[in-house]
Amino acid sequence: MSTIFIWSASWAEHSQVWFQSTIVYEFLIQNGYKLVKNAKDADYILLNAYPFDNYEEKLVLLSLYYYLNTYKDKKIIVFGSAPNMIYGIKRIPWLMYISYSEYEKFDTIFHGTISIKDIHVWRIRFFIPLKLEEVSLWDLLHNALWSNLKLETNYEISEYDLSITIDSIIDGTYQNNTIEEYPWDYNYMEDSIDNFYIETTRGCGFDCSYCAIKRVSWYTKSFPIDDIISDIQHAVSIGAKNIIIIDEDVGSYGIDIWLDFAFLINKINEIPWDFHIKFYYLEPKHLVENFHRIAPEFWENKVSYARITLQTTSQRILTLMNRNYDITEVLNICKKIKMYNTSILLWSIVIYGFPTETYDEFSDYFRLLKYFDCTDFLCYADKKWTKTYNMQKNSHEEILRKSLVILKMKQKFGDKIDPVIWSPRERKKILASCY
Ligand code: SF4
Repeated sequence: MSTIFIWSASWAEHSQVWFQSTIVYEFLIQNGYKLVKNAKDADYILLNAYPFDNYEEKLVLLSLYYYLNTYKDKKIIVFGSAPNMIYGIKRIPWLMYISYSEYEKFDTIFHGTISIKDIHVWRIRFFIPLKLEEVSLWDLLHNALWSNLKLETNYEISEYDLSITIDSIIDGTYQNNTIEEYPWDYNYMEDSIDNFYIETTRGCGFDCSYCAIKRVSWYTKSFPIDDIISDIQHAVSIGAKNIIIIDEDVGSYGIDIWLDFAFLINKINEIPWDFHIKFYYLEPKHLVENFHRIAPEFWENKVSYARITLQTTSQRILTLMNRNYDITEVLNICKKIKMYNTSILLWSIVIYGFPTETYDEFSDYFRLLKYFDCTDFLCYADKKWTKTYNMQKNSHEEILRKSLVILKMKQKFGDKIDPVIWSPRERKKILASCY
């Protein structure tokens, strides 16, 4: 039987991407395949990456280049979001592709007796990236047993590296023999047994104007409530301490089956337990619509973390984003949640540098520090197939200026601000370019 190696990386979305890769890992293991820790021992190399922005896209291209160039005799499959998110990738003739919407291809290629659609995973595994970036596993997983593990590299991403394109891979004009692999000892390690991951729904019920995920994701597909409850009961029985709901938007639960988020939460709330729930992503619209029907004890006793994807504090920009909620109402709900339980870690996300965003609109984002324990600042990334692609952009200088302000605010407010997508080297570069 063929041997398989899985590489999986996303510098912004590790947990989500690792969750998807773990499903593929389990599918292969349950169908009798041998997963090898080192690519050189594999017949197939499976690559899964989530190119969140232009910088990440370059990292993904560098990784693709590395595997194509180093392992010319292997069959290489790119799966997950990259086949649809990287414009023109399918022109690379030596690769096979399986996008999210065509996972049944795994059944066809690997002839399993167990179909990939019947695979459920509860604990995610690590997939170690290439030595292009340092990885602190502490940052990426929750309370992992080996939480102090840090993989370090001296590799400097150069301007030449950032010039890599699909064409330069195809015609061989990009050349690099300095990229290396980390030792693979840690590949496929499991997250702590305390953490139990579940999906309640796939995709989301929205159509945000800037969103490239929508292209690779589905309209909401909610899982049956009985399956979700029995998964959580199973988590209770094995002593898990954290239930991590890894959905793209848990708030969208039920909209395709005439149920809603409040129904889901109140059902979960009936389960006797002594562990906590973490919401990976919660789009505010359904939170606002459902909040008054969710029992306050749920927030008081059962939630430890919620990442509420506010995206902006400007009602004008929100409309341009094709999102629809009252920002003040969302912030009032956040205040109430904190009143119910001050120890809930409330996290938010804003996208700065959104097309037409003024400096005043940008500066207003810092008032979120009053409401949230931490706010991720993500720089707007232009993606070709999104509705915002043709809108008027912030200039490069404006983006640099705003980036510098975020870094300075980070120095002042520490953990309350997370410029999440920048590697340490990117931060240095931004600082250097501003002085
Ligand atoms: S809610 Fe999130 S995943 Fe859904 S369209 Fe909006 S940004 Fe994309």
